[in-house]
Amino acid sequence: MDAPTPVAERPGTAPGIAPVTANGEPTSLLGLDRAEIAARLVDLGEPRRRAGLRAKQLWHWIYHHGARDFSVMTSLNKPLRDALTATFTLARPAVLQEQRSVDGTRKWLLGLADGNAVESVFIPEEDRGALCLSSQVGCTLTCRFCHTGTQRLVRNLDAREIVSQFLVARDSYGEWPSPAGQRLLSNVVMMGMGEPLFNFAAVSKALKIVMDAEGLALSRRRITLSTAGVVPMMERCGAELGVGLAVSLHAVSDAVRDELVPLNKKYPLAALLEACRRYPGASNARRITFEYVMLKGINDSPADAKALVKLIAGIPAKVNLIPFNAWPGAPYACSEPASIRRFAELVNNAGYSAPVRAPRGRDILAACGQLKTDSAKPRRSAPEAAAVPA
Ligand code: SAH
Repeated sequence: MDAPTPVAERPGTAPGIAPVTANGEPTSLLGLDRAEIAARLVDLGEPRRRAGLRAKQLWHWIYHHGARDFSVMTSLNKPLRDALTATFTLARPAVLQEQRSVDGTRKWLLGLADGNAVESVFIPEEDRGALCLSSQVGCTLTCRFCHTGTQRLVRNLDAREIVSQFLVARDSYGEWPSPAGQRLLSNVVMMGMGEPLFNFAAVSKALKIVMDAEGLALSRRRITLSTAGVVPMMERCGAELGVGLAVSLHAVSDAVRDELVPLNKKYPLAALLEACRRYPGASNARRITFEYVMLKGINDSPADAKALVKLIAGIPAKVNLIPFNAWPGAPYACSEPASIRRFAELVNNAGYSAPVRAPRGRDILAACGQLKTDSAKPRRSAPEAAAVPA
């Protein structure tokens, strides 16, 4: 893959800046917390006593106004704007591809500075919508029904790369400054590529930026983090971030779940459900979402539905039934509509909301479990492979 094109050089975007540091890499201010921005300003020669205020002003420009260029930051004096322009960048990752589904879903393929690529997806509703962010390039989990699972983990994303996915989506809809009330980009789901609880430090830092009241200002109630069940990290996630939790359950016995979600061998159902019971902040007003992919003949029988209800008894929960989204070479098929209806009915009758998720963005491979990029980890054991052009 070519080096990403800085936003400033892409046609149709505002003129930007592409400053470089001594090693030739632009230094980005994105993904830093306020204290880190203040420290950068001090490095730049700003007096320590003013750095905090300046960082606050910059924050507002970056995350409230969506500024991509320091020259528009009129509340900062001209010499400081010039110094910032000469030293830092607010450039987004390059949008290598933007695809639009017939149903309005948008998917972005973003080029990262090291040549890797990652995808994010926006799923619009009438007057709001959910942005699905990735936390890793590739994934270690190898869930058998998931397309991303066929791509080996390349690396974790850093906070800048996670926050930048949000900024790119906002740019695409031009929804700046961050609206105080009604907004199209109203929700965030950590349900893209990767396992967010295997990259918690970066995910946490990024979500704190997304939730910050003086910037993007998305309420924690509008953010959901989805995990395949990294039990030891769940409590910390709830305590530190207070975001909603979704758990990719998909099976009601360890035998079947071991097969579908291999992480289950490490953290089996009993431990997973115990962690759900303890999840900080879970209540009837804040229910845990169990995601359940409907796989024909595997997990979709009436007996499975009844076992599911037993398993989650006592947990404030709802169940999202996800018709399996096929991908090339997938070893499963989607359950019949009648089986899905029957399953939903049984779960519903037991008192749990069990909506069947309408698949979105299937035509552009943007639906659940369909994300995958060509990024691959260079294989150390086969150095000759590096010499062969891709
Ligand atoms: N690793 C995290 C975040 C990914 S979320 C997790 O597992 O929760 C992506 C969601 O889509 C998960 O619930 C996943 O199980 C589901 N999914 C994966 N492949 C799918 C497919 N082919 N069809 C429908 N849902 C799928």
